[in-house]
Amino acid sequence: MTSPLLDVAGVAISPDHYIGGRRVASAASFALQSPIDQRLLGHVGEASAGEVDAAIRAAQAAFPAWAGLSAAERQPMLNRFADEIGKRADDFCVVESNDAGVLLSRMRHGVVPRAMLNIRWFAEHALTLQDRTITTEQATHHVRHDPAGVVAIITPWNAPLMLATWKIGPALAAGNTVILKAPEWAPLTSSLLADCADAAGLPPGVFNLLQGTGANTGAALVSDPRLARISFTGSVPTAKWIAQAAGANLVPCSLELGGKSPFIVLEDADLDNAAATGALMYRNAGQVCLAGTRFLVHEKIVDRYVDALRGYVGQLKVGDPRDEATEVGPIVHPRQVERVMGFINRAVVGGAQLLWGGKPHPFGAQYVEPTMLANLNQTDEIVQNEVFGPVLTLQTFADDDEAITLANGTDFGLGGVCYGETAHATEVAGQVRTGFIWVNSFGIRDLAAPFGGIKRSGIGREGGDWSFEFFCDVKDVVVPAKPFRASFSHR
Ligand code: NAD
Repeated sequence: MTSPLLDVAGVAISPDHYIGGRRVASAASFALQSPIDQRLLGHVGEASAGEVDAAIRAAQAAFPAWAGLSAAERQPMLNRFADEIGKRADDFCVVESNDAGVLLSRMRHGVVPRAMLNIRWFAEHALTLQDRTITTEQATHHVRHDPAGVVAIITPWNAPLMLATWKIGPALAAGNTVILKAPEWAPLTSSLLADCADAAGLPPGVFNLLQGTGANTGAALVSDPRLARISFTGSVPTAKWIAQAAGANLVPCSLELGGKSPFIVLEDADLDNAAATGALMYRNAGQVCLAGTRFLVHEKIVDRYVDALRGYVGQLKVGDPRDEATEVGPIVHPRQVERVMGFINRAVVGGAQLLWGGKPHPFGAQYVEPTMLANLNQTDEIVQNEVFGPVLTLQTFADDDEAITLANGTDFGLGGVCYGETAHATEVAGQVRTGFIWVNSFGIRDLAAPFGGIKRSGIGREGGDWSFEFFCDVKDVVVPAKPFRASFSHR
């Protein structure tokens, strides 16, 4: 028996799992509210250990045939999957906006096109996977990238569609079968993805979806020794838990985690450009892992820079994410609002100065004003911890060395932004210890480029060949250059 479909702004969505090509209902469920106005969107299934087992069996059963296809045979099916996402673009936009509070304009112009590209691009690039050879005097090494097996994909709520497709694309293109565990605070576009996989005719069991909380469904999934890989994006505490569970079974995992990235403004920066980009850090209400949230500004220009930034922030339109003009929407969940306000209040009690914001925003219960805190020490909680809300910090520096020391002075190492004369900013950026950093820009993401963090921001890289390295078993098939005759003197 399947559950009745939910109706979210006119879009019909299954609250069930998708296992082996069929919708499967659970006995247990959880309630889902919209972050915009707290209205009940419906109840979504919570997969039990039995349903996790069924998903793993389905993915295992589908694996030999899917892995046995060539990348060229998989490509048209994956392109159809991307086409189906495109056909339902409006549904994805409306649903993720209602469910996760993501801006409708961002969904339409950024996320949905990117989700389709995530599938298409990796399907295309998988065509070259088996073409790699290393030729030496002794031998030709045919370096094969064989599919690893059943892959568990676990995504967070802040960018569910983008992050799911960014992982599903390379995992499927490489010949793995997938189990996606959707984020419980924003699970609905993952269900639409299952509809698209079904409509595209992906063989049953190639793509499976489990709904459920991290503590129950997620934990049961990542503890299973039948998995070949776990690809996780989320918070540091969850990653530690998953790494231990995966470690117990020696299942390799890729961990894309939080950030506390520096936004450096050097003395020779174009202040107006740096300020316009600075205001972007409030996008998605600051619920963006790669945002530069620690502003480090040269002391000689700090007053002028803060004035310019204040001007841009003052123009931001806070409101309903379904309104195309809105630039800052809600925070995903009441618990996250509490967490964000807790960080602000503790910082202020500890002596931080509020340059702007600091209060709940009158637009709605899950809105917080774009906030900037100054008068801080490097060891302060607000400087060291990821807030994941519309909260930025400001510190000053006297020279490049101090900027670099402050930039590197947290446990995180995801990304960064550096504004200044290009050669100067590039030099400083090179010394910031993160997985990536944007010079005089922000948010440029090419699928071929590596993405990921160092220190507590993660283990592993995604994007381009790095995704395939993770999702494949690399095997060297060695063919000798000259006839080989066994002898004890052979190396
Ligand atoms: P989270 O760690 O609470 O949850 C992420 C996912 O893990 C959810 O699907 C959740 O159900 C699941 N989960 C929770 N406990 C689990 C367990 N024991 N076993 C298996 N799965 C479990 O993170 P969140 O609050 O949803 O997301 C916000 C975090 O994600 C932030 O720290 C943010 O920086 C990070 N993030 C990182 C990137 C990146 O690419 N580096 C991108 C987006 C978000």
